[in-house]
Amino acid sequence: MKTIYSDDQRLHFPKFEVLDGELVTPFESPQRMDMVLSRIRAAQLGTVLEPEGFADQAITAVHSLDYVQYLQTAWAEWSALGRKNDILPYVYNIRGMRTFPPRFIDAKVGYYAMDGAAQITGGTWQAVRSAVNVALTAQKHVSAGDRGAFALCRPPGHHAGRDYLGGYCYLNNAAIAAQAFIDQGAKRVALLDVDYHHGNGSQQIFYERDDVMFCSIHADPERDYPHFLGYRDETGMGKGLGFNHNYPLALGSGWSEWGDALQHMCGLTALYAPDAIVVSLGVDTYKDDPISQFKLEGEHYLRMGEALGRLNKPTVFVMEGGYAVEEIGVNVVSVLQGFESV
Ligand SMILES: [Zn+2]
Repeated sequence: MKTIYSDDQRLHFPKFEVLDGELVTPFESPQRMDMVLSRIRAAQLGTVLEPEGFADQAITAVHSLDYVQYLQTAWAEWSALGRKNDILPYVYNIRGMRTFPPRFIDAKVGYYAMDGAAQITGGTWQAVRSAVNVALTAQKHVSAGDRGAFALCRPPGHHAGRDYLGGYCYLNNAAIAAQAFIDQGAKRVALLDVDYHHGNGSQQIFYERDDVMFCSIHADPERDYPHFLGYRDETGMGKGLGFNHNYPLALGSGWSEWGDALQHMCGLTALYAPDAIVVSLGVDTYKDDPISQFKLEGEHYLRMGEALGRLNKPTVFVMEGGYAVEEIGVNVVSVLQGFESV
């Protein structure tokens, strides 16, 4: 299986994040990609390719134009005021306030943010734009006949909604790849999110559509991020009713609960009969992940990949979370090898 990867994705690296009220080094770091890349090479998974370039149109097919322009210009507007630190909101656009897109940078920072866990730095735009190219290049290879391809995207994307960033995410790489299949003629695409956290951005983007079915297995949002979306009763709206499936699981869940949810999700996917599948591949479900509380073990990633492989559809894997750096590469490659083995 081919892996698509770009060094430009290293250009984004905020100085800190806030965890339990404390400033800590971000868990979402360029080092994560090194761990995955070195395992891909050691396991001889396949060639590692640079991404091709794609027009912004693929991005604005799922994100609002004003939001994309904000991401592109935020750092210039911020630093023009003499500011040198990473961009963080100090006000949010909350219930009951005016909701038109603002013009001044400080207002934009709050307006387009879901939380304070996605700083914008001087290199963020270049990195997130390059991650989109990584996802779209993988999609292109699968569209051209590869059974599967791996987009080693960073930063991740599944928390980014139509017009907001949050949770380390800026542009929704997986949603952009899913939309690309539709724009190239696919009738149905399944977007399967196996990251520990609910893919709230992906859900929002496709919530009223029946041509992209979104399914997510994740930590119960009552107890873990993103808290305000990801419940079982969110099943889609309008034309999309019945095409959104959430599997919130209790903290501490292991393979017995997780594997059951996977089996159910794969059953629904087979019935949906998609032309293509996009997997939001987070491996922060691992037992030793520093910020998550599921109990999956190494061997389970192979089984996850086998189950996804048995769906027997053209599949793009898009990297999302996973923070136990020593094991992230091993677990990602296990999923991909499991997929290839069936
Ligand atoms: Zn996650």
